[in-house]
Amino acid sequence: MTRFTPAWRWRQTNRRLSVPMTRSQQLRRTVLASSIVLTIILAPWVGLSVARFVTEGWWLPVLIALPLGVAAIDFVTGIVHWACDRFGDASTPVVGPLLIRAFREHHVDPSKMVDHDWIETNGEPCVLTALALAALAVLASEVQSGLSAAAVTLVWTMAIVGAWANQVHKWTHMSRAPRLARFLQRARLALRPNEHACHHRAPHDSGYCISTGWMNPLLDGLGLWSWLERSLRRTT
Ligand SMILES: [Zn+2]
Ligand SMILES: [Zn+2]
Repeated sequence: MTRFTPAWRWRQTNRRLSVPMTRSQQLRRTVLASSIVLTIILAPWVGLSVARFVTEGWWLPVLIALPLGVAAIDFVTGIVHWACDRFGDASTPVVGPLLIRAFREHHVDPSKMVDHDWIETNGEPCVLTALALAALAVLASEVQSGLSAAAVTLVWTMAIVGAWANQVHKWTHMSRAPRLARFLQRARLALRPNEHACHHRAPHDSGYCISTGWMNPLLDGLGLWSWLERSLRRTT
């Protein structure tokens, strides 16, 4: 079993002992912080293109793509979460330290993620989001049809919602979330604490979607996760 130090504990330790960050830790924090800044700049930039699609008459494809994008990224968070909970461990090459470790730690002590700061919470998803938004910024200017306008809008929505999935998840574990969070939870635009609580009850096999949670009732109701596991067992 690979030994590791959770990021929250490392920060607390460093604060207490005034231990300077290593160069690789500094580099990681710089990359994560830059990704968050890029996401914040590029999201409205691409949003201007989405607004142009509407003014050019493609309002219906945009209107359909927006909720589809929210649902699609919720589904993606569910797939990633399910895979990381059910397969491999922290020593699995590449995805072990990058993804699986955090999900497994979270089951052991769900409230620890509340200690993560803004960069630690949102940096990693924003690396992917910033890359996706940069590609969209280029592609959006080439859009010539309603179908491509819908595709750009769909990916843009997935990117801007997915960027903050960890933040939304963190809010569900706070004893008192910020006012904006409570508003989004009431509006069902962010995962609700009571809906996420089911995932933290043994056997932790439902409620995998952690963005808006829109897909949880459907996927849990269909028994998707147990069906996927049965299917994978049959083929391996
Ligand atoms: Zn989990
Ligand atoms: Zn949780």
